[in-house]
Amino acid sequence: MTAPDVEDKPYKIIFDGKGCIGSGKCAEVSDNWEMSLQTGLARAKSNYVDEDQLDDELEAVRVCPARNGDGVITVIDRRTGDEVEP
Ligand code: SF4
Repeated sequence: MTAPDVEDKPYKIIFDGKGCIGSGKCAEVSDNWEMSLQTGLARAKSNYVDEDQLDDELEAVRVCPARNGDGVITVIDRRTGDEVEP
C-alpha cells in the first residue's frame, strides 16, 4: 500500500503492537483506533492521519498504559521526521 501525500496526511502512526496489553484506552479517545476481536489488541484504522485527527492521536499516545505508561503508540511528523509529543 502506498503512503498518502504528506500534505493530506502529515502524521504517521507507529504502533509497537507487541507491547499492546489490550486496555482499549486508545479506542476510547480516538476514532482511528479499534480493538481486534481476533487478537484482543488494538489496531489503527489508518497509519496516516491529518491535522484534524492529530489531537485525538496524541490523546491516544498519552493514555496508552502499556510499557509501564510509556505507551506503544508514537506519532511522527512526516515533514520533519520528528516525534510529536503529546
Ligand atoms: S491504549 Fe495502548 S495498550 Fe491499550 S489497547 Fe491501545 S495500544 Fe494497546
